[in-house]
Amino acid sequence: MQEERIELLRPQMGTSRTLTVRRYGKAGSGPKAYFQAALHADELPGVITLHHLEALLKKADEKGEITGEIVLVPFANPIGFTQYVDMKPLGRFEMRSGQNFNRHYPDLSDALIDAVNGKLGQNPDENVKLIRSELRRLIVEHRKDVSPLTDLQDLRLTLAELAIDADYVMDLHCDWEAPMHLYISDHNWPDAADLSAQIGSECSLIAEISGDNPFDEAFSRPWVELRRAYGDKFPIPMATLATTIELRGDRDVYDEYAIPDAANMFKFLQRRGLISGDPGPLPEAKCDATPLSGVDRVMAPHGGMVVFAAQAGAKVKAGQELGYVLDCETGEKTVFSSSVDGVLYSRIGTRLIVPGGYLCSVAGDKPIAGREGQLLLSK
Ligand SMILES: [Zn+2]
Repeated sequence: MQEERIELLRPQMGTSRTLTVRRYGKAGSGPKAYFQAALHADELPGVITLHHLEALLKKADEKGEITGEIVLVPFANPIGFTQYVDMKPLGRFEMRSGQNFNRHYPDLSDALIDAVNGKLGQNPDENVKLIRSELRRLIVEHRKDVSPLTDLQDLRLTLAELAIDADYVMDLHCDWEAPMHLYISDHNWPDAADLSAQIGSECSLIAEISGDNPFDEAFSRPWVELRRAYGDKFPIPMATLATTIELRGDRDVYDEYAIPDAANMFKFLQRRGLISGDPGPLPEAKCDATPLSGVDRVMAPHGGMVVFAAQAGAKVKAGQELGYVLDCETGEKTVFSSSVDGVLYSRIGTRLIVPGGYLCSVAGDKPIAGREGQLLLSK
């Protein structure tokens, strides 16, 4: 294992930040996996899962079983780690700019299409090598175009530079109250069905574009666009599987979850040829993929407090009571429900609700008419 501490852009006089990166295996020896946790800083289930995954990787390393390269950022957001208001950590948005830490990653698709023009051939492996070497070059070039470079943009670019040429990009997040679920490009499906089954995902949401370029899409989209531009003339595999894994809710920081979750990720790496050894049989999938455009997001009709009647992870029917919002000043009580049958895969973590505030999400199995463009909750 090699540990590196990358100095991030100094945000202010007398202040510095570093990003810890650990590398297992050898670059170029086989497929590359990139893992990061807590890009939204106060989402710690991924941090404890990577802690346990590293224990497994260390043992495998000692036995010479690592046959690929595994790059791991155990906590990806030193900026967000120190953002507190009222004793509460606030890690989703950068407080200075208001921007979501998991949006606005560079989209290198157009630059990549230009860069490989006239260089592709009929050997898919050679094409992948060429494309990856161009991606490595383009992300470094892109940094020169970002002016002025803020500490937030420096963090984004530093993470993107580490992940840009990976075969597997695993961005570990969590929801507020949720079962295990994941987001992934529809172009990575059904390839990623083994990952979904191995980690026990109860809701696997697919979309090509979810809006504002979150971290995972910065690595899957260039391949999608390149295949669209040249795929009829040249063999270009969908060589990067990039996903956002939501490790349940933000308070689900327990060894009883994290140890098996880490073991499942280790088995996935074995199945994909990054670690030798038998991962055993693939567990039966708990869900099939469903479209992100089939998610019904339920919002509060008025302010008050929310009292849920359905648990996160429940399979619910359209019109079924999921809970109610109660205004104790007016006595107004409004029962809420979803317009679709599906999995209630996300519930808000607070109980005090404002008018139009987010309550919960239900994933149906068909796109909902008019649901396009901005498919995720917030910028
Ligand atoms: Zn998150």
